[in-house]
Formats: sequence, structure tokens, C-alpha cells
Amino acid sequence: MKKFKCKICGYVIEAENLPNDFACPMCEVSRELFEEIEEKKEEKKLEKRIELIEDKNDKCIRVSKNNPSITKVVENCINCGLCKKVCKEKVGVNYEDDEVKVPVCINCGQCVANCPKDALRPKQTYRYVRELISKNENIMVVSTAPAVRVSLAEEFGYEIGTFAEGKMITALRKLGFDYVLDVTFGADLTIMEEAQEFVNRIKNGGRLPQFTSCCPAWVKYAEIYYPELLPYISTCKSPISMQGSIIKTYFCEKMDINPKKIVNVVVVPCTAKKYEINRKEFESASDYWEVSGIRDNDYVITTTELVKMIQEAGIDFSNLEDGKYDSILGKGSGAGVIFGNTGGVMEAALRTAYHILTGEVPPKKLLDFKAVRGLDGVKEATVMINKMKIKVAVVQGLTNIASIVEKMNHNELDYRFIEVMNCVGGCIGGGGQPIHKGINKDEIRLKRIAGLYHDDKNLSIRCSFENKDIKRVYQDFLKYPGSRLSEKLLHTRYTTKKHIFYK
Ligand code: SF4
Repeated sequence: MKKFKCKICGYVIEAENLPNDFACPMCEVSRELFEEIEEKKEEKKLEKRIELIEDKNDKCIRVSKNNPSITKVVENCINCGLCKKVCKEKVGVNYEDDEVKVPVCINCGQCVANCPKDALRPKQTYRYVRELISKNENIMVVSTAPAVRVSLAEEFGYEIGTFAEGKMITALRKLGFDYVLDVTFGADLTIMEEAQEFVNRIKNGGRLPQFTSCCPAWVKYAEIYYPELLPYISTCKSPISMQGSIIKTYFCEKMDINPKKIVNVVVVPCTAKKYEINRKEFESASDYWEVSGIRDNDYVITTTELVKMIQEAGIDFSNLEDGKYDSILGKGSGAGVIFGNTGGVMEAALRTAYHILTGEVPPKKLLDFKAVRGLDGVKEATVMINKMKIKVAVVQGLTNIASIVEKMNHNELDYRFIEVMNCVGGCIGGGGQPIHKGINKDEIRLKRIAGLYHDDKNLSIRCSFENKDIKRVYQDFLKYPGSRLSEKLLHTRYTTKKHIFYK
């Protein structure tokens, strides 16, 4: 497989050849502006590029011009060092190690969330999306991640944590999207596959603990700093990537749409997702249709970018009626909704793992599993399923991984399942979320978390395996969790990146 790179925006695609009508999914330039690249040459260029950045502020993190997630307005920077502090102390990026070849950015955007001068910002792609909508040549599909619905309204004068799913959907329709879908469906699908994978590992003596894989910042961190953990990380793609590949396969078949006509846009709280969608692993619809260049997702826009789209379109957000998602891959269960919180993935997975192991619906105490909720860096809990004691942990902030690995190395770790999210509070605290200066960050996090748990509690379907759309996609298409087709479309494998970033 060859690699081609866009000379304008740096987007890289793997393919045998690029078709003549190929256009860059990031900046839309034509195929002529792509050049073939070799891996080694690329690594050297990466180092060179980093040297070229004219940024003399040594206390502040450096941002490569090719960073897909973050950008830096150097003239705004006052060299206060807050961004590097959070990157070192919470995210866990190691700046002191002499062996590090290039600065390692895991794209999480926590520097953005902590910069007092707005010098660090999420990279913006919403204008490309707006242009594509206005051209009216494609079918524009948008899917919304769980955490966006409890933060979007904050920028329109509502209380922090206000649940505004209905207004968000209507705003997206007014912006011109043809289909509005919900990533909570992709989250339910992730749970079906991940819970089954967990049960298989338990029954077949597979590697345990199983680590979650839905946070791209965590996956990249493991690839660079702890590649020995990769066999323990779930093979499940993230919810947005599962959603993307199902839209460009099953949804296209059902709706009789050419997958090449679809532009998949995802609205997320997370800057790392901008990096994730361009990973070579996330092009499974191409395999399915045996056509090159079909990416699972085409554009990621953050919550704050959606705010700009709404404001710049002159939409009066507060007077919008509540809308509803389109069907087929419409709204997920309560389990899919709480994916936006720290502990939410674990809680969602345990609900379905319980069902797989017992054939019954989980008891009330597992539906409100408070032991994995809250803002501690590492939370532990034990559940009994079929007389089996399962010890689990929830980790937020990647600095906490070191102690987990230490215990693993000394055979002192008895967890069976570990949820890992980079951002404190989970995705509700992502780098693409609205920032409120002067308000305690934990207060903001807890209010957004409460908004998602409130929705979960009020939904009649709270478990992924009960979601009718999920049942239908297995019946009609995937067959069962872990089937050959599920493996092809919904799972992946990660490999070490240590050699790129270390001497
Ligand atoms: Fe993105 Fe969520 Fe991971 Fe933060 S915790 S980097 S928002 S996926």
C-alpha cells in the first residue's frame, strides 16, 4: 500500500492509487496536489517541521503546524506555562526525557482548555463543512456525540449542563444537514462488541485486564509510552468510528445511497477525534465496498465550532423547537448517553456484560452503579455476576496509568476491566468544549455529568442490548457481536509508535 500526502493541509491517505476524481477530504484540493511519500522521509520531515516553528516561548508547549487538532496563535502567548503544566501533570506527556525525539502531542486539547489567553485553539474545519453544505452536491450526514448536548446551550446563555438535545437537532437541520443521527447509537454498538469481547476474554483465558479504546488520546498515548499495553486494549473502534463505518455500509444499503456521495460529519467535545478520523485504521467502508478512499468519517467539528456555525448562520437558538433524530441509526440507549462521562463506558459495558453472562436484565444497583461515578483519578469497584467477582477500575487523566502499569509489572493488579479517558470528567471536559473563565472547572464538569445521568435515568431503554435499532442492525446486517463482518467493520488493531517519537 502506498501513502499519499496532501501538499496543502498534510492529510495522509493510504491507497494503491488515488482515483482521478479524488479530492482531499480535509481541504478539498484535487488529486494533483497529492504527493507520494515514504515513511522514513516523512519521519525526518516531521523533525524538521518542528524545528521550523518560530515560537521562542520555552515555557509554553510547541504546536506543529501540521497538528490536526490544535493551533497556536503565537502572538497571544504570554509564556505563562499553564498549558505545559497541565500537559505534564494531568495528561502525562513526558517533557523531561532526553530520549524523546519530537514533542509528543496526543491531540487532547487540554492545553486549549487551560490557556488563559486564547493562544491555543482547536483547529477549525467547520467552514469546509459549511461550504460542502452550500454546494449541495453531497448527502450531508451529521452525528452528535453524547457530551455536546449538555454543553452547547451554555454558549447561548443557558445554565451550565443544560440538556439541549432537541434544540441542537433542529439547529443542525436548519444548517442544512440531510440526516441528523446520534453517536449514542455508535456507543451502543461499541458496548455490544466490547462487552462480548470482555466476556470472551474471561471465558477463553484472554489477556486481562481489558482496557477501553474509545478515547483516541489514550490510544495514542499507549502507542507511544506503553506499547506493551496494546494487546490488552479492546479491539473495538471508538463510537464515532463504528457509527461512521455503519453509515457508509448498512445505512447506504438501506437508503440506497452511493457511499461516495455521503459526507460524514461528527460533532464532538474532543479535539483528538480530529486526529482519529484520519488514522489509516478507520477506512473500513473502503474494504467493504472494495473502493479506495472511503473514510469512515470525513469531518470532525467540535462543540465550539458548532456554536460558531449556529451564530454565523443567524439562527436564534433559544427560540428553536425541539427536533428528533432520524431513524435507523437514531438515538441510542441511556448506556450510550453516559459514554460522555468518566465511568460511563464502564457502567454501560457492565449492564450488557451482565446480560450476556446471565441472560437477565441487570439489577437496579447495576443500572445506577455509583461506585464508578465521580471525579477521582482512579475509581475501583467490584461486581458479582454469576458468583464471579469482577474487579474493575476507571481512570481519568493519563498520569494515573503509570501506577496501573507498575502494579501490572509486579503482578499486583487484580482488575479485570479498566476504563481510561484522558480528560478529567470524561468527554464532557474535552478540549473542544465551551470554556468558562472564572468558574471552578469541577463545578462545570459535575453539572454536565448530571445532565447526562439525568437523561439516562429518564429513558425507557437504558441498556445497549435493548436498543431496537441495535437489534435490527445485528439481525439485518452484522448477525452477532464479534461476527466476521463486525470484526471487519467495527474492530481494529493498534501498533507501537514509540520509534517515531523516541531516539
Ligand atoms: Fe477526547 Fe473524551 Fe478522550 Fe478527552 S476523554 S481526549 S474528549 S475522547
